[in-house]
Amino acid sequence: MVDVVDNVTRSRMMSGIRGRDTKPEILIRSLLHRHGFRFRLYVHDLPGKPDIVLPRYHAVVFVHGCFWHGHDCPLFKWPRSRPEFWREKIKRNQENDNRAREALLASGWRVGVVWECVLRGAGKNIEGVAQSLADWLRSDTPLIEVRE
Ligand SMILES: [Zn+2]
Repeated sequence: MVDVVDNVTRSRMMSGIRGRDTKPEILIRSLLHRHGFRFRLYVHDLPGKPDIVLPRYHAVVFVHGCFWHGHDCPLFKWPRSRPEFWREKIKRNQENDNRAREALLASGWRVGVVWECVLRGAGKNIEGVAQSLADWLRSDTPLIEVRE
């Protein structure tokens, strides 16, 4: 199947396809580690398979790619080809994200979402992200979204 997407979209798609251990996840893990947090990886029995689980803080963290999760931000652009396919796919991903988040919150987990754009976008502020997450982990706040 020949698919026509621009290079930026393609590399964004490929970085999503690589799945676990994409760079943004590694970055967030090392930031948290440097701030003294210890955590578990790949906890498959939790809804949505969070990227990072911090049982001591009753917290999980997702690192979301802006393309795959359909973020309303400058990193997201619809591919020019097969609009129906992508609309359906990304809508499904968003529904899964929402379901997982509700299930986690309902069972007493706190949920952090770090969007790729805050790590890669024009206004990126890596140390600010680390500080926001650290402050949130030490708080009682159920939900945080860190985005550009
Ligand atoms: Zn984004």
